[in-house]
Amino acid sequence: MASRYFEPDIERRSRAAMTRWQSRRLREQVRHAAARSPCYQRKFKAAGIKPALIRGLDDLQRLPFTTKDELKENQASAPPWGDVLAVPLAEVLRVHLTSATTGRPLAFLDTREDWHGFYRSYARSLYAYGVRQTDMVMAAFSYGPWIGYWSGFYAAQELGCLVFPVGGLSTDQRIDALLNYPITVVGCTPSYALFLAEHAAKKGLDLAKETKVRITWHTGEPGASIPATRARIEAAFGAKAYDLPGLTEIAAWGFECDARSGLTHVHEDYCYPEVLDERDRPVGPGGRGELVFTSLYRKAMPLIRYRTRDVVQVAARRCPCGRTLVAFEGGVLARLDDMKKVRGIIVYPRRIEELVRPHAEVDEFQIVFRRHEGLDDILVRVDPSPSLSLSERDGLRAQLGESLRTGLGLRVSVEMTEPGALPRWDHKARRVKDERTEVPF
Ligand SMILES: [Zn+2]
Repeated sequence: MASRYFEPDIERRSRAAMTRWQSRRLREQVRHAAARSPCYQRKFKAAGIKPALIRGLDDLQRLPFTTKDELKENQASAPPWGDVLAVPLAEVLRVHLTSATTGRPLAFLDTREDWHGFYRSYARSLYAYGVRQTDMVMAAFSYGPWIGYWSGFYAAQELGCLVFPVGGLSTDQRIDALLNYPITVVGCTPSYALFLAEHAAKKGLDLAKETKVRITWHTGEPGASIPATRARIEAAFGAKAYDLPGLTEIAAWGFECDARSGLTHVHEDYCYPEVLDERDRPVGPGGRGELVFTSLYRKAMPLIRYRTRDVVQVAARRCPCGRTLVAFEGGVLARLDDMKKVRGIIVYPRRIEELVRPHAEVDEFQIVFRRHEGLDDILVRVDPSPSLSLSERDGLRAQLGESLRTGLGLRVSVEMTEPGALPRWDHKARRVKDERTEVPF
């Protein structure tokens, strides 16, 4: 019988053996950064760290954090690469940019081995979804300096799949490809999966019936770990959808497996995860906190204790698949940068999506945080299915208002637009507007 594991010796490694491996890699990374990265030399000096005294994971908490703002300042003060770089530029093979919504994107550099590590761990995720050499794969991400397209493409190729390059193709051309080639696996953002299906439906096409797609994977946004969003994608493609959380700065770090237990496994041999509470203390099983990663493989930009600003929950149960890798309950539960406060209550846009998506008649939505009649208010704009009558739209508005009020503990204004009025997203969606903080220009 074929194995369900791509690298069983790693995926089922004992805790003691994994800890030994991680400790050794951590020692090497800290010594490497201290010897070669001017930025880390300064950081260690400022924190009074003697790299030779870092022996393993037990010493990790003595090391200083690295933040995204710090990396941005670093690159801004010594453009274009900054001085985190710990190898000669001649050894760098790849550059990717983060998809920044504001300001200058961060540039990430990788050596040949770094890049191999990035797509090798990604390939392990695809294998866990059930992707095999016999599959034909379409990575429907944007062609450009973002890592999504390249890493998906290389990962599928690493498994020996037939990979169809569609980075620069239009949505119409991608739909044609799905109809005319035996494509069995599709990777894209969750927003784009829904956009693709809606676009096909407008042309009278049913992707679930008229394509051979059996697996989809989704990255760039947490949508595929939201049950109602995932169910929508699965219905649209007649396939199983999987979440692949990742960060350009660290790795395509996690994956769900074919046991579909709701757990996200972590490639902890590539990046060591810490989950820390508000006072930066590690949380135990079942606890929630900020995910902090230390890269155990990348040599060009060896990030140590990188604060992801993502909130995760450490699993308190084992996955039935038999993997021993650290697991989280669900994917990324919240992004600290997305946190909003409304009348003293903390609200995450992901929670609103969890409450809106189960209403099947909602085609698209938008969330606006605003000042309304002197008070903070949330407005959810809803683009209803064109099949709804006007009175059904009223009914939907009332139902949504009730779901949001009970789910958030806040009264939320719901507004219906004309069908098709709200923007659709062919990459990462920007459904959230905060009019309270945005400066008009
Ligand atoms: Zn599993």
